[in-house]
Amino acid sequence: MTVKILPPGVTASAFDQALKAFAGIVGDEWVLVTDQDREAYRDFFSFSDTHHLASGAVAPASAEQIRALVQIAAQYRIPLWPISRGKNLGYGAAAPLLSGSLVLDLSRMKKIEVDVENDTVLVEPGVGFYDLYHHLQERNIPLWLSVPGNSWGSVCGNALDRGVGYTTYGDHTSRICGLEVVMPDGDLVRTGMGAMAGAPTWQLYRYGFGPAWDQMFVQSNFGIVTKMGLWLMPEPESLRGFDLEFDKPEDLEWVVDTVAPLRRDGTLQQSPSIGNWLRQAAVLTTRKEWYDQPGALPDSVIEAIRKRFNIGWWSISVRFYGPDEVTAASEKVVSRAFEGRPVLSRKDAVWHRGQPREQSAWAGVPTTMPLQNANWHGGRGGHVGFSPVMPTNGRLALSQFQRTYARYNEFGMDYHGSFALGERHTTNVNQVLFNKDDPQMLKRVQQFFHALVNDATRERYGEYRTHIEYMDLVADTYDFNHHALRRLNEKIKNALDPHGILAPGKSGIWPAAYSKERSDA
Ligand SMILES: Cc1cc2nc3c(=O)[nH]c(=O)nc-3n(C[C@H](O)[C@H](O)[C@H](O)COP(=O)(O)OP(=O)(O)OC[C@H]3O[C@@H](n4cnc5c(N)ncnc54)[C@H](O)[C@@H]3O)c2cc1C
Repeated sequence: MTVKILPPGVTASAFDQALKAFAGIVGDEWVLVTDQDREAYRDFFSFSDTHHLASGAVAPASAEQIRALVQIAAQYRIPLWPISRGKNLGYGAAAPLLSGSLVLDLSRMKKIEVDVENDTVLVEPGVGFYDLYHHLQERNIPLWLSVPGNSWGSVCGNALDRGVGYTTYGDHTSRICGLEVVMPDGDLVRTGMGAMAGAPTWQLYRYGFGPAWDQMFVQSNFGIVTKMGLWLMPEPESLRGFDLEFDKPEDLEWVVDTVAPLRRDGTLQQSPSIGNWLRQAAVLTTRKEWYDQPGALPDSVIEAIRKRFNIGWWSISVRFYGPDEVTAASEKVVSRAFEGRPVLSRKDAVWHRGQPREQSAWAGVPTTMPLQNANWHGGRGGHVGFSPVMPTNGRLALSQFQRTYARYNEFGMDYHGSFALGERHTTNVNQVLFNKDDPQMLKRVQQFFHALVNDATRERYGEYRTHIEYMDLVADTYDFNHHALRRLNEKIKNALDPHGILAPGKSGIWPAAYSKERSDA
C-alpha cells in the first residue's frame, strides 16, 4: 500500500496533478513517489524516524528542466528541497526540513569540465568526490581534490553546506568561483564573471562587477545551484607532515596555543584538527568489546582502549604541500614549535611526486572510512554533529572541552570531539553517536543537544552548520538587534520566492507563505 505524505495545504488531487506536470518535464521514471522511493530520502542517521519525511522526489537532468519544474511547483505550491547527492549524514542526509516537501534530486546531473591550464573545474551537482577523483585519475590530470571525511557525497553539495576537507584547499566554500543558479521564479543566473556570456574568466575571478552573490546561495534557500566553479590544487611536488599524540586532556590548551600563530602567519596552510581518542577508536572497534554498562565510558576503559591502539587522549595531523624545499622548511619550523613539549608519540609522513599516494583525505583521496563510527554503539547507528565556532585560544578551547565533556558525562554519552583550527577561528566539531535501537538513549539525545547549544550560546559561540532538526534553534542564537539578520534573510526570501516553494525553513529562513509551518516547527 502506498501511504501518501502530502505537502502542507496541498490536496491529494492537486498533488497528483502536479506530479503529472512534473512527469511531463522529466519523464514518469524520474518522479519518485512510491513508499520505497520515499524511504530512500529519509535521514537514516536521525534520532527520529517520523520527522522530516519527503512526499517523494523528482530528478531532473538539466537546468532547463529545473526551470520548468520550479514554475510548476509555484503553481501548485509544492515545496522543493534540493539535494546534490543527499549524503549530508549527521546534518539531515537527503531528507527535507519540512515534511511533505518534494526532494529535488540533482544527482543525475554529472557533467565535469576541467580547465587544466588554470587548475579549475566546473561541476554539476551530481558529481561526487569519487566521480571527480576518477575523472582526474583516468585522464592523468595532475590536480588534487580536497575531500571530506565522508566522501560519498557531492563536490557541489558539500561546498554549499560549507563542508571541510584536510588539504590547504579544505575550506571548500572559499574555493567556489562562479555559480549557475535557477531562481525560484525560474530565471537562470550566472554569478561573478559568468554574468558576461562566454567570459573566459568565470572560474578565475570571483567577484565580477557590482555585488558578488556566490555566498548568498550557500546554506540558503534562495536558489538552486546547477553548476559550480571550484579551484583545485595543482599536484604538489611533495607532501610532508606528521601525526602527534598527546597523553592528557589538559594538553589541548598548549597544543592550540602552539599551532595558532603558525596558522595565522601562514606557515601552516591546512586546517589541522585536534581530535580525541574516540575519533580513532570508533572506526577501529565497537563499544561492546570494552564495556556493556549504560553511561559514559569510565576512565579505566578509556585507558585500556588507548593502550590497545596506542593512541593519545588527543591527536593532531599537520601536512604541508608544495616544492620539496618549502615543505621541508615548513615542517622544520612546526617541529621546532613542538620541541620540549610533552608529545606522547610522533609518526612522520613523506610523499614525493611519482610515488603511490597515501589513501587518505590528507592526500585528497576520497574516503568513507569514518562512516564506520556509526557502529560504535551497535544497533542501527546514528549521529548528529554539533559544531560551534570559537576563537583560537588554548584557555578557551580547554574550557569549551571541559564544559562539553561534563555534558557528555551528564547525559551518559561518549565524548567524540575535535577542534579544527582555521586561520583566525576554531570550529569545535562534536559528534553525538547513538544507537537508534536504544529508546532511552534517543530520548536523551534531544535534551543533550539543546544543553550543548545553550552552553555555547552563553559563551556567544554559534554553530557553523547544523542538522535540519535544529535549524530554527541555531538561527535563534544569532540574535543581534532582535534577530536583524533573520529579518534581512526573510525579506530577501519573500522577494525572490513569494510562494515560498524553495526549501522552506532552511537555515531558519521561513517564507511568509509558510508562517503556520514555522510556528508548528
Ligand atoms: C562520519 C562522518 C564524517 C563526515 N566528515 C565530514 C567532513 O570531514 N567534512 C564535511 O564537510 N562533512 C563531513 N560529513 C558530513 C557530510 O556527510 C558531508 O558533508 C557530505 O559531503 C554532504 O553530503 P552531499 O555532499 O551529498 O551534500 P547534499 O546532501 O546534497 O547537500 C548538502 C546541503 O546543501 C543543500 N544543497 C545541495 N545541493 C544544492 C543545490 N544544488 N542547490 C541548492 N542547495 C543545495 C542541501 O539542501 C543540503 O542542505 C561527515 C559525515 C559523517 C557521517
